[in-house]
Amino acid sequence: MHPEIPRVLCPSCGEIMRLSRIHPDGNNKSEMLFVCDCGFNYRMSTRAQREAEDAQF
Ligand SMILES: [Zn+2]
Repeated sequence: MHPEIPRVLCPSCGEIMRLSRIHPDGNNKSEMLFVCDCGFNYRMSTRAQREAEDAQF
């Protein structure tokens, strides 16, 4: 199964960004690339083991 994908809002236009791809980089971490229709893109590193990263709202 996929890891849980966080919902990322575009800091430029406020729309929900789409997950473009995931790069596992070892060390129990992955790098996710999010893209937006406005052209903004955003990379996020995440751990396979979640910590307190749910509390974004
Ligand atoms: Zn945007």
